[in-house]
Amino acid sequence: MPRTYNTDAIVLGSHKLGEADRVVSLLTAERGKVPTVVKGVRKIKSRFGGRLEPFSRIQAQLYEGRNLHTLTGADTIETNAVIRDRPAALKAGLAVIDMFSRAIPELEHRPRTYNLLANYLRETAAAAAGDDHSFKTPALGAQLKLLLLAGYLPHLASCAVCGRDEDLRRFSAATGGVLCPGCPGEAFSVTPETVSLMRVLLEQPLSQATQMEAGEKAVHETWLCIRELCRFYLGCELRLEP
Ligand SMILES: [Zn+2]
Repeated sequence: MPRTYNTDAIVLGSHKLGEADRVVSLLTAERGKVPTVVKGVRKIKSRFGGRLEPFSRIQAQLYEGRNLHTLTGADTIETNAVIRDRPAALKAGLAVIDMFSRAIPELEHRPRTYNLLANYLRETAAAAAGDDHSFKTPALGAQLKLLLLAGYLPHLASCAVCGRDEDLRRFSAATGGVLCPGCPGEAFSVTPETVSLMRVLLEQPLSQATQMEAGEKAVHETWLCIRELCRFYLGCELRLEP
């Protein structure tokens, strides 16, 4: 078995390892999330430059080790630097890659998850290069679509318990979606705008989400629902709001 392989990868983040090395978290098309060591600070600067910044999409050459894989080569596909240059895009983008980092297990083949993040970054970079775009709605859209891929699509069209389709003003991750006033379940209040925003974000492509008008309250409540679903189903605590 060859232990060196090539794959498209997106940089999720990195931290120092000892004095001289770095660990870079990569979401790859071939192996899912791969913990990767990059050896030698000098080499990192000279050989990889800005290619290992968050949001960068690279063609990576990796050597498979027992615990960590080692990055031996990287060519830029898209730097997505424009996302890092606009504060609102950066904030939204960091919230998205934080969720992908926490929610995806290591070394599992997840091509649809990779494509979702690549598509989100492409749309956000295009929006960041223009004017008057929303960055929060595509970020929430990507997060909801990640929950969908993980198998946790919230029930939003009718009460998750009794099926009634009006007065849906409560959300319960444990019950799997919205609730009517009469059904039991630990829940918090949401407005009808929030429920319809979540439905639209799940149904529409991310390219539409950059043009979407949504109220602040609906945006914030959507994030609370996503955070609750992650907590309940994926056992991870999201800390960054887009
Ligand atoms: Zn009900």
